[in-house]
Amino acid sequence: MSLVASVLSAEKTTSAMTDLHAEEAAFLERVREFTEKEVLPKTREWEEACEFPQEIWPKLGKIGLLKILISRDNGGLGYSCQTYCEAIRLMAKADPALAMNLAAWNALSFAHLEKYGNDEQRKAYLPKIASGEWTLAWALTEPDAGSDARHVRTFATPNPDKPGWYKLNGSKMFITNGGNADLIIVIARVDEKNLTAFLVEKSNPGYHFKERLHTVGVSASNTVAFDLKDADGWHTPCTFEEAISFLFRGRLGIGAMALGIAEKAFELAVEYSKHREQFGRRLCDMQSVQNMIADSAMELEASRLLVKNGAHLEDLGLPIAKEASYAKLFASETANRVTDRALQIHGGRGMWKEFLVEKLWRDAKLCEIGEGASEIQRLVIAKSILK
Ligand SMILES: Cc1cc2nc3c(=O)[nH]c(=O)nc-3n(C[C@H](O)[C@H](O)[C@H](O)COP(=O)(O)OP(=O)(O)OC[C@H]3O[C@@H](n4cnc5c(N)ncnc54)[C@H](O)[C@@H]3O)c2cc1C
Repeated sequence: MSLVASVLSAEKTTSAMTDLHAEEAAFLERVREFTEKEVLPKTREWEEACEFPQEIWPKLGKIGLLKILISRDNGGLGYSCQTYCEAIRLMAKADPALAMNLAAWNALSFAHLEKYGNDEQRKAYLPKIASGEWTLAWALTEPDAGSDARHVRTFATPNPDKPGWYKLNGSKMFITNGGNADLIIVIARVDEKNLTAFLVEKSNPGYHFKERLHTVGVSASNTVAFDLKDADGWHTPCTFEEAISFLFRGRLGIGAMALGIAEKAFELAVEYSKHREQFGRRLCDMQSVQNMIADSAMELEASRLLVKNGAHLEDLGLPIAKEASYAKLFASETANRVTDRALQIHGGRGMWKEFLVEKLWRDAKLCEIGEGASEIQRLVIAKSILK
């Protein structure tokens, strides 16, 4: 593949991504078209329904959005982390809830199955998941184990009749796609010291749906709590650290999601400020509005560079714990500031559901919480500096 210097031409915003393979650039162009034609026009409808239509998954599968990071040997696209982040950013501009699902799917659950699944497991699940025939979830969080993830109390005990299989008992909470997923990667404890991961099919009689958790943003996403009662779990041997190491790349995905949300809100605010007049002047001619636009543009640019840097280091195979936290923390706090300013520029209309900006303002909040809240990102950064 030849290298091309490419900035997605049809987009109005500038992308920090410049070194894309031609095939990856063409893929992202298809993603952009899809998000603009098939996702953005539906985003309100899905939010109001608190659900995506299930037909969305095979559509995403057809474009390749469900297997961006999976190697070609395993039937994936084998694209770079930079391309993954770009795809998530584009999706977030159209529907942040779907972007969040795709970020977790590609970076956490599917990546786990590829890396720690054995041949039998990969053969059983990979094709169905890559096509969207089956959907995925990744379940770490519990009622008493959030930021303190090591405190997981879901227990796994070996099934003496079936080597490699365990019985799982416990409760999971805030699991994205957890009520719809056919296959769930469950992090569980095997003894007081050791945690690892298991594949649990939702059709399993041990899976008990508990509650749909309706959230203030990303409301179309199927966020749920469920219990496991003697559920069959197929072991994917790995340590706890290995299982949660996917969160580093996942955090870049949430950074990219935050960037997409903020870019969309920024574009809407700039456009609005050029047309709305008060006191005989356009809003964009007023200095306090210009200050909001300037600060947002600058913070967006810094977010782009941090996400790009983290993804670039990941593509080089270098450690990214600190850089992923930089990107997630800065981009998600930026998204909250930029959407807030964008809403402010819209005035009363900013709070009105006829205007998309209020939805983006609500959706941005998840980025400061999911995959490690901002306080935890600061702990990661400080720890890596003070070690
Ligand atoms: C919409 C949504 C989707 C989600 N999807 C998934 C999913 O698919 N899979 C999954 O496993 N989880 C998922 N989560 C859970 C998410 O990762 C957790 O909510 C997050 O890690 C925070 O945990 P908590 O909610 O228990 O908050 P807590 O851990 O109780 O934290 C509460 C507050 O205290 C702060 N805090 C905690 N510990 C410290 C500390 N040591 N120092 C300083 N401050 C601290 C936190 O930063 C936060 O501000 C999702 C959450 C949401 C809202």
